[in-house]
Amino acid sequence: MVVVMAPGATDEDIARVVERVEAVGGEAFVSKGLTRTIIGLVGDIDSFHHLNLRTLAGVADVHRISDPYKLVSRQHHPDRSTVWVDGVPIGPQTFTFMAGPCAVESSEQTLEAAQMAKAAGATILRGGAFKPRTSPYAFQGLGVRGLEILAEVGAATGLPIVTEVVDARDVAVVAEHADMLQIGTRNAQNFGLLQAAGDAGKPVLLKRGFSSTIEEWLMAAEYVAQRGNLDIVLCERGIRTFEPATRNTLDISAVPVVQAASHLPIIVDPSHAAGRRELVVPLSRAAIGVGADGIIVDVHPHPEDALCDGPQALLGSDLRELAAAVRTMPGLLGRADASRLTKVLA
Ligand code: PEP
Ligand code: MN
Repeated sequence: MVVVMAPGATDEDIARVVERVEAVGGEAFVSKGLTRTIIGLVGDIDSFHHLNLRTLAGVADVHRISDPYKLVSRQHHPDRSTVWVDGVPIGPQTFTFMAGPCAVESSEQTLEAAQMAKAAGATILRGGAFKPRTSPYAFQGLGVRGLEILAEVGAATGLPIVTEVVDARDVAVVAEHADMLQIGTRNAQNFGLLQAAGDAGKPVLLKRGFSSTIEEWLMAAEYVAQRGNLDIVLCERGIRTFEPATRNTLDISAVPVVQAASHLPIIVDPSHAAGRRELVVPLSRAAIGVGADGIIVDVHPHPEDALCDGPQALLGSDLRELAAAVRTMPGLLGRADASRLTKVLA
């Protein structure tokens, strides 16, 4: 941390800062310039925060130099991590394709969607049993019955399952049925839920809040990590901007920015970013090209009848085109296909 003194700061002002820092066990290194004095602080940054140094006479500004997050930071963990979801890797060596319906609507629809996902090369099945809907009148998901359907379809197809948990009270039942817990964009800063998910003993897929900065997103991940769970995968799913042409604006640059700042894997959700089927394949190609560790996409056997997010669900030729991109492009960038790696390791 660095304290920048105002040009008119007196020697007493400087001494007061040094005294306060030393009182909490820190060290203060004073460098006097021609017009300004700068004080470098070494020690426990959290104890410095409590000193409210900005409020002291003569202090112009206080800057933090190290990352505010620790456990998820690359400063503390230089090698990028791989997270395993029931034997399927998500990390820097591979490209992981996850697909499934936005919502679990019935056994038949979920099984059909899972078969479509698997045929296209997906190795993890997505699907919402608890749906966080903007309107309380919209379909809220099948709840625990939806989890049972997912577990049955996962067993039938051999695909591990990722599904969303929207309430801390449901974490245990979701963890009982799922291989990975998803925290959605609307709950990205629900700190109690993040902590409960961190305690559940399952990998966590943490979506970016639609108005979260990258730092806020990584701080949310820190809440999960602090509970002793570092099996966290981040998911860029678009943010809210002034542009109404797409449902959200996919912040593709978040991928390399996050990879530089954090050791956690990061995937992209082009379906919820775009909200439109015809954009999912081009945005998936962009995700592969930018170096994402995977993608998660919506598929549905009958999008016209979907109870949730039909306009963005893939099927038919779009899904075949996506499958071809996922088969061919990651290899050009030196990544192995996660399904092949799974088989080699099995
Ligand atoms: C979802 O993946 O089903 C979902 C609701 O996503 P998001 O939280 O990104 O909107
Ligand atoms: Mn959805």
